[in-house]
Amino acid sequence: MAEIYTVRLFGDPVLRKRALKVTDFSEIPRLAENMLETMFEARGVGLAAPQVGLSQRLFVWAEYLDSEEDEEEGEDADLRTRVRETHVMVNPVITFREGQQVGTEGCLSIPGLYSENVPRDLRVRVEYQDERGEPKVYEAEGYSAVVIQHELDHLDGVLYFERLPKELKAQWLEDNREDLARFQKQAKAFLKELKAKG
Ligand SMILES: [Zn+2]
Repeated sequence: MAEIYTVRLFGDPVLRKRALKVTDFSEIPRLAENMLETMFEARGVGLAAPQVGLSQRLFVWAEYLDSEEDEEEGEDADLRTRVRETHVMVNPVITFREGQQVGTEGCLSIPGLYSENVPRDLRVRVEYQDERGEPKVYEAEGYSAVVIQHELDHLDGVLYFERLPKELKAQWLEDNREDLARFQKQAKAFLKELKAKG
């Protein structure tokens, strides 16, 4: 049985740290499986290790099938039934980038909030290791490229709104001030509870 982790919220310092390179792969397959299950539960497209409190350079993401039929099933439909492919990327490095795109992004650590103006590279090549440490290369374009850049940013302590042009970022922070303050409070309370448990 997979373990479902608590997704860390904006305000948790683990989200702002540069994560460490994975060198010991013994626990990575289990961790990646739990992260995928956590991502499905949270109805996400990607999840990086710092988002579950682990400062390690690894993220998971999924490509989903989307058809009208699936949309009719509504919000309650289990995302697992729509998976086309899942990916586990350990120690990822973008080795090629090309073109530009601007799109909508949200984040499981900043739930319910979005920005429609996040600039990203259109195409990326990412070199990484799979959950067993085997070297791999993946080339992505469009939305998949956005997901990879968003998740890789998490490994460097960067959140999507920080990619916004200066004025849009200030506007976004202003528009979402109350929600962000609430997440910070929740993050603080969670860490206190965690500490109390030892
Ligand atoms: Zn995110």
